[in-house]
Amino acid sequence: MDGTLSPNDISHIVTADREHVWHHLTQHKSYESADPQVILEGKGMRVWDQHGKEHLDGVSGAVWTVNVGYGRESIARAVYDQLLKLNYFAGAKGSVPGALFAEKLLDKMPGMSRVYYCNSGSEANEKAFKMVRQIAHKRYGGKKHKILYRDRDYHGTTIGCLSAGGQDERNAQYGPLTPGFVRVPHCLEYRAHEQGAPSEGYGEWAANQIEEVILREGPDTVGALCLEPVTAGGGVIVPPEGYWPRVQEICRKYDILLHIDEVVCGVGRTGAWFGYQNYGVEPDMVTMAKGVASGYAAIACLVTTESVFDLFKTDASDPMDYFRDISTFGGCTAGPAAAIENMRIIEEEGLLENTVAMGDYLMGKLEELKGKHKVIGDVRGKGLFQGAELVKDRETRVPMDEKLVQAVTGDCMKQGVIIGATNRSVPGYNNTLCFSPALIATKSDLDQMVEAVDAALGRVFG
Ligand code: PLP
Repeated sequence: MDGTLSPNDISHIVTADREHVWHHLTQHKSYESADPQVILEGKGMRVWDQHGKEHLDGVSGAVWTVNVGYGRESIARAVYDQLLKLNYFAGAKGSVPGALFAEKLLDKMPGMSRVYYCNSGSEANEKAFKMVRQIAHKRYGGKKHKILYRDRDYHGTTIGCLSAGGQDERNAQYGPLTPGFVRVPHCLEYRAHEQGAPSEGYGEWAANQIEEVILREGPDTVGALCLEPVTAGGGVIVPPEGYWPRVQEICRKYDILLHIDEVVCGVGRTGAWFGYQNYGVEPDMVTMAKGVASGYAAIACLVTTESVFDLFKTDASDPMDYFRDISTFGGCTAGPAAAIENMRIIEEEGLLENTVAMGDYLMGKLEELKGKHKVIGDVRGKGLFQGAELVKDRETRVPMDEKLVQAVTGDCMKQGVIIGATNRSVPGYNNTLCFSPALIATKSDLDQMVEAVDAALGRVFG
């Protein structure tokens, strides 16, 4: 820490935080017995709290965001320079970083053609849902408007996104939700036995469950299928072999738009620029947010193919024939300025390659841990996005109690290592430890992380 804050300053900040800030995802009763943790600084893979304690950040800023690590001077400079030139202009006007980032981004997304700017993953997904509905009205008399989403996937916090949310604990108490969203089953092979799936060909079987839902609802009512490429907060669910090709086939067969939510996987997390690129998928719409600028500025994008874009400019004489949507802060220039530099860093530092290599290393380490601790039932993930599912018994695969899973993350925190866990999302299945360090992680960072988990598992489960 650079020591610019005095002990009095820090004490004032912690008090102001405890008394005035309403924290995300927090039961504030917990602050009656302990102060909130305030993170004062970050550099590389590490952050420092108000006590000067150093933490290795194994989750990239709690929610898979700081892909290039903390303290990147070149991103700060790019944003600073841009803000002095032009901080903002919205509506139909373009901007220099907006144009240049769109060009750079599309270069990494063959087959995609247009970038729509906004601010959060939820907002990008809402915009995709609006596009689907508008297309239904323009082409199908409003009928082909339903949006399919998958059990255990998450697409954001707004009422519309919760309506497309497969995590019932996130949705609980926020109803009534929006009509027109229909759930399809998850594709977690480790839990295939609970779905009554056959022991062979699970990937294709799981995709066929989607087709069954489409046939039940009526293909002429279904406009889009929205999926995470690798499910994040629902348990780090890697798609099984054979799943994606069949999903693509089904979407084409029934003229259903494929919307991939890359809010977590996007921009390097899985070792490819985008998660779907690992599986040869050709989406119609892609949404992204967190890693786009690694949290140095708020930016989210909805990217579409040219054919989706074309559907919104078919009739120049019709005053309603365009996407009638705006995002006030979609006109901020800091986001694309930071995103350009973020992407340059990933390319020049070879961070995709590092993610693949360190992802393999981490998987090997987690497998070793599984050999040692019976409580680990399954290890899975892609690149630097991995999970370890904890169970009471390997035979029956009964999920471990959420409180004990939280005890593991709490023990790691005491050791100065921040890891994540699925948390109050899927009832009964909040039992997966999550690892998503920055894409700059080294072997020694990963060793430190896994050693902390090893010690924590030993202490919590004996
Ligand atoms: N989609 C996925 C897969 C997410 O994990 C999240 C947030 O965690 C979102 C969408 C929502 O993004 P935001 O919190 O930026 O609205």
